[in-house]
Amino acid sequence: MRLTRRDAVRLLAAAGGSLPLLALPGVAFGDDETAEKPQPEPKTEPKREPTRVDRALDWLVRHQDPSGTWSDAEFTTRCEGQACTATHERSPVETTASTLLLFLACGETHQSKTYGDTVKNGLRSLFNHGSKDGRFGDLAGRAGLREHIEGALAVIEAYGLTGSRLFKARGQNAARWLVSRQRDSGAWGVDGDDARLTGQAALVLRVTGQADLEVSAEAVERTYTWLAGQADAKTGRVADDDSATALALLARVWLSDVATARKDPLVAKAAAHLAERDIKKLGSGTITHATWALHQAGSDDAWGAWLKQLVALAGKRQVAGETACARGSISPRPGEGRVTATVHTARALATVWTYRRVFGDR
Ligand SMILES: [Zn+2]
Repeated sequence: MRLTRRDAVRLLAAAGGSLPLLALPGVAFGDDETAEKPQPEPKTEPKREPTRVDRALDWLVRHQDPSGTWSDAEFTTRCEGQACTATHERSPVETTASTLLLFLACGETHQSKTYGDTVKNGLRSLFNHGSKDGRFGDLAGRAGLREHIEGALAVIEAYGLTGSRLFKARGQNAARWLVSRQRDSGAWGVDGDDARLTGQAALVLRVTGQADLEVSAEAVERTYTWLAGQADAKTGRVADDDSATALALLARVWLSDVATARKDPLVAKAAAHLAERDIKKLGSGTITHATWALHQAGSDDAWGAWLKQLVALAGKRQVAGETACARGSISPRPGEGRVTATVHTARALATVWTYRRVFGDR
């Protein structure tokens, strides 16, 4: 049975968003042909308990600036009653793009009934920080590349989901701008090759192809070759960094042929290393990347154990209750903002319906 992403969201919601989602077949990005025409919700749909992801979306809607921006530094201006805690300095362009990616992963687009205006305003804010040459963001250096990568992912996903001509040129230009910044080595970076940034750039190349936008085969090949060459010959780890290791694993699966990656002992070793990490000690961005990597390339046992850790973590960190302003948000570790922690944790939880699982028995 082939499910659209919308079907998957419904099914997951019916399952309460907890462990039964293990049985849910994943859906590949770009498969959802029905997404172009939003289906009206049947009027008689039974009431259901909101999932953890629903509660996170609700908190994010309540803490979006009227300009459409989400900001870790300034979200408390939206608080009602006792203000939420955990502000943090982080690029609002990157944070807005990450938040849009969560809504899009949940099948929510600018055309949706429930969160259409939220997504529309978020995209408008992102476009206000885009320049004519296709670049998103204003910051210099590494933070600037991160802003652009996240912005590019958001607009390309929005195009892939809706096919709307509002996003086609912006998505194409954003991908081109990124490729124009690829270094001679095949990597991305500011003062040198940067494994984590290169892994994130690989995600952009992947979704660009999936959305049927043009992407240079040579750029893909050079990215793949550079990342594959970074894996430690004993452990499979990349740059001694869990996020870079996870992203390089994804590139192995997504930018090349799966059969070769499946047989490669270094891929298996890197996946086993990630699966053994204590999720409580990882930053929320790393949790998302590790979740994607294990969902794609972990053994069934490793993925199942990881998902259990993730669900337990979300259960512990999500603010409960019906009245606190922070309800539905995910409390971050020190050094991280509440918006970022909420978005990344919810994106990790939404992984199952965002991407098709490639390895394993399914
Ligand atoms: Zn608040």
